[in-house]
Amino acid sequence: MWARVRGLVLFDFGGTLDADGARWSVRFHAAYRAAGGKQSFAAFDRSFRESDRALERLSGIERLGFRAMVDAQTALLLPRLSDGAGLSPRAIADQFHSSTCTTVRRNEELLERLHQSYHLGVVSNFTGNLERCLEELGVMRFFSVVADSGRVGITKPDPRLFQHALSWPGLVSEPAWMVGDNFESDIRPAAALGLSTAWLAPETEKSRETGIPTVRLQTLSDLGRVLDS
Ligand SMILES: [Mg+2]
Repeated sequence: MWARVRGLVLFDFGGTLDADGARWSVRFHAAYRAAGGKQSFAAFDRSFRESDRALERLSGIERLGFRAMVDAQTALLLPRLSDGAGLSPRAIADQFHSSTCTTVRRNEELLERLHQSYHLGVVSNFTGNLERCLEELGVMRFFSVVADSGRVGITKPDPRLFQHALSWPGLVSEPAWMVGDNFESDIRPAAALGLSTAWLAPETEKSRETGIPTVRLQTLSDLGRVLDS
């Protein structure tokens, strides 16, 4: 006998499934520093944002798996940094990739468990290749729906990207949770749609609206306890 499905849990990807609240820019900066880069985060972040926009426009991006995408972003980033030419792209991509894999492997246990009693989905501002990335990272099998902004043509915080996932055929979407690290793009719009919200953020980050999120998480591993209670 199949256990009754208790509802839907939607996840953000970057900073949520691949790291406990740390954005890609922060993690790429750490990898760049470890490889010998000298720029402060503020200076680095400007170049990183440019590399993000270039990545979105990259021909064939929708076909790239996770490692290939990390390599592509590193290749777009280094020429934009004043000290990028002397650094090893391989070292930077390796560190970013391996820290992602470590966190995803840890989260796999949680997804495996939740998958037994909830439908699971991903709602992400991505580049059209998220399903490929989730496949490569070994977790696609847990998700019934993947709303990738690059595919759907709608970007968070637009509520229609969430509605795209919530209305996916065959899902038990009530009650539904949204789990994410970004208050403005994950938590606020999901709460406005009536979802329960789990915000993965350091305690020092203050909520910007009374009554939301429903719960706060320091690490994604704590989500199991919240949903079991
Ligand atoms: Mg995020």
